[in-house]
Amino acid sequence: MKGLVIKNTGSWYTVKTDDGRIIDSKIKGNFRLKGIRSTNPVAVGDRVEIITNQEGTAFISSIEERRNYIIRKSPNLSKQSHIIAANVDQAMLVVTVNHPQTSTTFIDRFLASAEAYGVPVVLVFNKNDILSDEDRHYQDMLITLYETIGYRCVAISAERNVGTDMLMPLLKGKTTVLSGNSGVGKSTLINRIIPEANLRTSEISDAHNTGMHTTTFSEMLPLSCGGYIIDTPGIKGFGTFDMEPEELTGYFKEIFHFSKDCRFNNCTHTHEPGCAVVEAVKEHYISESRYKSYLSMLNDKEEGKYREAF
Ligand code: GDP
Ligand code: ZN
Repeated sequence: MKGLVIKNTGSWYTVKTDDGRIIDSKIKGNFRLKGIRSTNPVAVGDRVEIITNQEGTAFISSIEERRNYIIRKSPNLSKQSHIIAANVDQAMLVVTVNHPQTSTTFIDRFLASAEAYGVPVVLVFNKNDILSDEDRHYQDMLITLYETIGYRCVAISAERNVGTDMLMPLLKGKTTVLSGNSGVGKSTLINRIIPEANLRTSEISDAHNTGMHTTTFSEMLPLSCGGYIIDTPGIKGFGTFDMEPEELTGYFKEIFHFSKDCRFNNCTHTHEPGCAVVEAVKEHYISESRYKSYLSMLNDKEEGKYREAF
């Protein structure tokens, strides 16, 4: 019997079978996928086969090959990673210019990691009902910046349910991972899009940040128009691993564009003569905030540090 893993709570996996049944399943003790050392060998979004033993317990017996998957390193087990989701079509990153402020470094790290996974990102600017004139001006600047680079941006107020209808055509029929810092309004947004979800919303820096749910829980919520939202409470972004500087350039679309004219093809765009990227930053073709984010990620790599995407 085949199906889709729609929920993962510790050792139990909820599978929606192709004939529409919901079955809680376990995995065989030594179930391992080649090449990935993860705390959860099966993730939401996985297509699996399940078998039932004589006692009636369902077990996942095999996983179909993944189109892609996103991971983060387990906080406690440094060599192991946690698979956040498999077979995702896109990520939706919820940001707020104020209450709380999402930093451009966070946004850019998220975007670069998503590029590394080949996952397109939609940027959702929330809390438009409480922006000051100055906030709005800054938001407009950011939207212009990210749209110019090639990212779809939508400004909404989840609380007032303004603009959320613009998200529906973008979500329809797709599997979307919803991400963003705590307090930006992810739960509020899910409740607007999927009223049946009835998620608990919280004041800033509360519930989702603490407790057992932080690393083990993710869930696929079905959309009435087809497709799923993957809710990963407590996970703000995804991690990236072991990139070379040349690769990092590729994950900043506009930096990559200008880097084709650098004198050296292994240019790190820091100190090299004939660097077209540094020139483009000087000429304001590349934004200073994006270049700073690139440098901060480059610096992580040079120090050999692993960093999360935020
Ligand atoms: P999450 O941590 O990202 O899931 O954020 P929540 O959905 O729990 O929201 C955090 C706080 O922001 C709650 O107090 C919400 O009521 C509030 N909030 C969410 N969306 C909006 C919005 O569009 N405008 C305003 N003013 N507040 C919002
Ligand atoms: Zn260069």
